[in-house]
Amino acid sequence: MDFPFDEPYYLSGGRLQKGLDCTIVEIHTDAGIVGIGESCPWGNTYLPAFALGIRAGLEILCPVLIGENPLHIDCINRTMNKALCNQPYIKAAIDVACWDILARKANLPLYALLGGKLCDSVPLQGSSSFSMPPSGVVQRVRKFRERGYAVHTIKIGGDTIQDSMACIAAVLEDAKPDERFTFDANGHWLPGEAAVVMNSVRDSRVMFEQVCRTMDECGEARQLSSAPMTIDESVETLSDLRRAHAMGVAQRFGLKLGRIGGLSQARAMRDFCVAHGIQMNTEVTGGSIIGDTAAVHLAIATPPEINRATWDCTQLHGCVTATGGFKRDGGRGIVSDKPGLGLELVPEVVGEPVAVYEYGKGICNGFK
Ligand code: MG
Repeated sequence: MDFPFDEPYYLSGGRLQKGLDCTIVEIHTDAGIVGIGESCPWGNTYLPAFALGIRAGLEILCPVLIGENPLHIDCINRTMNKALCNQPYIKAAIDVACWDILARKANLPLYALLGGKLCDSVPLQGSSSFSMPPSGVVQRVRKFRERGYAVHTIKIGGDTIQDSMACIAAVLEDAKPDERFTFDANGHWLPGEAAVVMNSVRDSRVMFEQVCRTMDECGEARQLSSAPMTIDESVETLSDLRRAHAMGVAQRFGLKLGRIGGLSQARAMRDFCVAHGIQMNTEVTGGSIIGDTAAVHLAIATPPEINRATWDCTQLHGCVTATGGFKRDGGRGIVSDKPGLGLELVPEVVGEPVAVYEYGKGICNGFK
């Protein structure tokens, strides 16, 4: 499905996104239980992941998964990993749909299987696209503030580091005392440039995210600045997270279900963060209410002092693919106690499947 954005969205380096291409997966079982998941990369330039890659990967994965037991989710992931090396973004939708099936089978809301209800609601995070002059960014932050959002991420990284510093200064001048801000460079700066920007800001409400492209470069920036940092793009596996923690490269980790392959890996990474006192964001790389709802279920089941906020991609577009998902209550997200994700697809929105793989028929009607 295509989700056109309400307005264009810029990442650092002039990377423009006008909408997202999302793949929704529905798994039917012989017991009549149906699970839903989705995978949605942020375009083609954010991560080594792209939407057509998901459909190509499903052509490989679906035939080997038919007939497997979706309740045995680690077995499902081992089967997927034997059939296709790495590329967790392709596997995320299947993993989430299996968790949905398991929770529906147990007749429990998904959060109960992920640790239980550790809080009634979770903070939502507004996400503001970069633009110059900074007044446009300030306006976008104000819109989220009016809706009750107190946590903001702001994309920075223009032609010069002075552009970024001007943007940060304008946002902070307009900020409220109880708000928190993450300025996200999406890997745009060299370590020395990152340090100049970070050292120019002294504000306890501020963190900087993925200031350089690689973990090693972020580590170099870490040596040059004491500003609080978070890392997301360069952590794809639990091993990456362990390395980032050992390097002391970041005080916070941004967990995105699509990047790491779904809820199974996310749960393991969440547990690592809890064990080591690392704050984290819990969200998706992109998508609709299906992905957002899965992220909020995990966030509800995470200690509130560890879970900082959840960015909801549905704030950027009006495509409602399912009912019964997470709801906004001001700047906070809540989920229902219905079994599983609690979602029902909206048939007139999602339309007919573009590919169907069926057990026992010996044929697959793959993507055209
Ligand atoms: Mg980020």
